[in-house]
Amino acid sequence: MFVDLLDELKFSFKGEVSNESWIKDYYSVDSSNHRILPELVCFPKDEDDIKISLDSAIKNGLSISCRGAGTSLLGQSLSNGIVLDFTKYMNKILDLDLQSNCVNVQPGIVKGLLDKELRKHNKFLPPNPASSNYCTIGGMVSNNSSGPYGLGYGSILGYLQYIDFIYSDGKKGFAQNGLCDDRLNKFLQPLFSIHDEISSVYPDVSKNSCGYRLDSIFTPTFNPQNLFAASEGTLAIITSLKLKIIDLPIFRSLYMVYFSSVQKACMYTSKILSTRPAALELLDSPVMDSSIKSITASNNGCLLFIEYFYQHQGEINSISKLLKSAVYSEGKVVEQAHDLDSINNLWGSRRNALNMAIKYTVGNRKPFTIFEDTAVSIDHIYEYVTDVLALYNKYNLSYVIYGHLGNGNLHTRPLITDSSSSDDLLNLTQTKMLHDITNSIFKKVKEYRGTITAEHGDGISRTPYIKNVYNSFILSYFKYIKKSFDPSNILNPGKIVL
Ligand SMILES: Cc1cc2nc3c(=O)[nH]c(=O)nc-3n(C[C@H](O)[C@H](O)[C@H](O)COP(=O)(O)OP(=O)(O)OC[C@H]3O[C@@H](n4cnc5c(N)ncnc54)[C@H](O)[C@@H]3O)c2cc1C
Repeated sequence: MFVDLLDELKFSFKGEVSNESWIKDYYSVDSSNHRILPELVCFPKDEDDIKISLDSAIKNGLSISCRGAGTSLLGQSLSNGIVLDFTKYMNKILDLDLQSNCVNVQPGIVKGLLDKELRKHNKFLPPNPASSNYCTIGGMVSNNSSGPYGLGYGSILGYLQYIDFIYSDGKKGFAQNGLCDDRLNKFLQPLFSIHDEISSVYPDVSKNSCGYRLDSIFTPTFNPQNLFAASEGTLAIITSLKLKIIDLPIFRSLYMVYFSSVQKACMYTSKILSTRPAALELLDSPVMDSSIKSITASNNGCLLFIEYFYQHQGEINSISKLLKSAVYSEGKVVEQAHDLDSINNLWGSRRNALNMAIKYTVGNRKPFTIFEDTAVSIDHIYEYVTDVLALYNKYNLSYVIYGHLGNGNLHTRPLITDSSSSDDLLNLTQTKMLHDITNSIFKKVKEYRGTITAEHGDGISRTPYIKNVYNSFILSYFKYIKKSFDPSNILNPGKIVL
């Protein structure tokens, strides 16, 4: 049957279709621990190609999953059906409107390439994941990605203006500020009267990628396009996106502040936030690369990266004074940079944190990923981090910790020696320990009204835990939304709604 499918697709497809085993192998993995072999990989050139793929998927009972750069950490783009890769052809800037500060792009454009173009015009799109040299705008929107400037500028959800998409039955749809196609409008009708009730039970955090962002559709006005942020390709296939862009800051200054422990740094977070930085990031010593370790002159402790954007050169003196007073007496400014090259150099070490964490994979030992992206409000960050570190201590685990302290979103992973290949009893004990730690951490997250994922998304790994964040009322609307868009469950099944 699938040989026919390949022939059938090849006949009408403008882009490319492949079932070669090395291509399927390549697309069977992303940046998670999962591996799922797809049946076919397609590289669509346009909307017609997407419709043809959907048609074939339905006829042959296959699922269909979109893919950008495959940098998701929880298996978001993996599927045993058809994988649609947007990076080969549907990767263009369609329009750059400097008057109204908007850029219209295809989903497969790489964020770093878009940045390069925008920089020529002194503009930028602030959400900036550490993976931005590879990741695509389609992937960023579908995971509601963020990054260091999430503190000053929020996640990509805040920049969505207009989305063109294709429903699972091949019909076209659109959503923009205040308006959407009739079918989407009908799907959203039951939510109109209960949006306050919905928003009141969502996590109390500054960014959130867990489940569907129903809370963002009506706040402050009707923004149906926001439904697609964090939807992980489970509702529709995005074909183009219009995003708000802003002027690059005129002046920037980056400070590195040393604290003797992560907990001490957390105690000072509120004071530092009162100085209004655009970014406040944390890097603990186990994930510092050699260039940065020499700056701290210590093997322990952590560094905060605190960046300010400002309009007048003279402002830097008062910013510097305010920061020094905010971190007094435990924090010490160990480095600062005020020109672009030096700032980018220093940020390099922070961007490298996940790679440093992955370097702890030696033999059977690896950093364990499931609660690596929680967030709680700043009011709770000190208690929360104390709870997490106490758990690591209880089970005698080494760990890494770094991330977006200003958003209460710290990435942490215990280093686990995988005993699945050794005896069964050890394996069972270890599974139980990881289960206990995950449940304890997610219980704390709930207690503080946080989220189990602030920017990485749910994917295959975290979907079973979404119920830890939302009550049955919200979960029933997730099911309703998924069923409305995708009644046959062909769009990226196994993510968000099981
Ligand atoms: C080293 C490293 C550092 C990272 N740092 C950060 C960070 O700082 N901040 C952060 O937020 N994340 C970070 N991430 C996670 C990841 O890079 C982001 O989530 C990224 O935005 C994913 O983009 P992608 O193009 O790789 O998407 P993919 O992984 O390919 O796909 C992501 C989701 O988008 C969907 N999708 C893609 N295109 C479409 C489309 N056209 N229509 C519908 N759905 C679509 C896919 O089906 C999938 O569900 C990091 C990852 C790595 C490996």
